[in-house]
Amino acid sequence: MTSIRAPRIGVMGGTFDPIHHGHLVAASEVAQSFDLDEVIFVPTGMPWQKDKEKVTAGEHRYLMTVIATASNPQFTVSRVDIDRAGPTYTIDTLRDLKSTRPDAELFFITGADAIAQILGWRDHDDLWDLAHFVAVSRPGHVLSTEGLPEDVVSRLEIPALAISSTDCRERVNRGHPVWYLVPDGVVQYIAKHHLYRSEA
Ligand code: ATP
Ligand code: MG
Repeated sequence: MTSIRAPRIGVMGGTFDPIHHGHLVAASEVAQSFDLDEVIFVPTGMPWQKDKEKVTAGEHRYLMTVIATASNPQFTVSRVDIDRAGPTYTIDTLRDLKSTRPDAELFFITGADAIAQILGWRDHDDLWDLAHFVAVSRPGHVLSTEGLPEDVVSRLEIPALAISSTDCRERVNRGHPVWYLVPDGVVQYIAKHHLYRSEA
């Protein structure tokens, strides 16, 4: 007897300003551990927690995400958040993805810092019906899912990459290299478009 299972789709949300190897390793590890068929990277529109003056244009962040994920056949990129007007809330991201992929089981991937904030997210009680949540370890943050529903939130230890987009932006601004912190194509995209240089 053959049974056709629902597609298992990871959702990796982030500002990706810029995308770096910490994001890519998190997605790859969750894909393997949770037997995912695909991981959709979703660059945020205007993140509601971040100062909009300081966030790079969505189109640059989207293109860097496309460049970074292009070589992995399981990775795709969605424009749902950058094409939606107003600030980005995860509840909208998941509802939009669910409406385009109603057959799929969604797995939302977050780092240890992001999961710690989830109870502050808009409509957090409704999040649990839309996706399973996978919280991955991140250097400098304690991985805790205390107080969150155990049946829909999992924890996963992944190889520790002490990389943040904030640090990458600061390095570029100081003229330090970001080679090997971000994919090669992203290094070149940043240089080509003079991103993260305060004098630019
Ligand atoms: P910023 O410094 O601008 O906040 P960031 O490096 O935290 O950037 P985000 O785009 O804010 O990157 O993060 C997107 C998601 O990826 C979040 O869930 C975050 O916790 C996770 N993440 C980011 N970097 C890592 C890392 N090095 N290891 C594990 N998870 C990470
Ligand atoms: Mg962050």
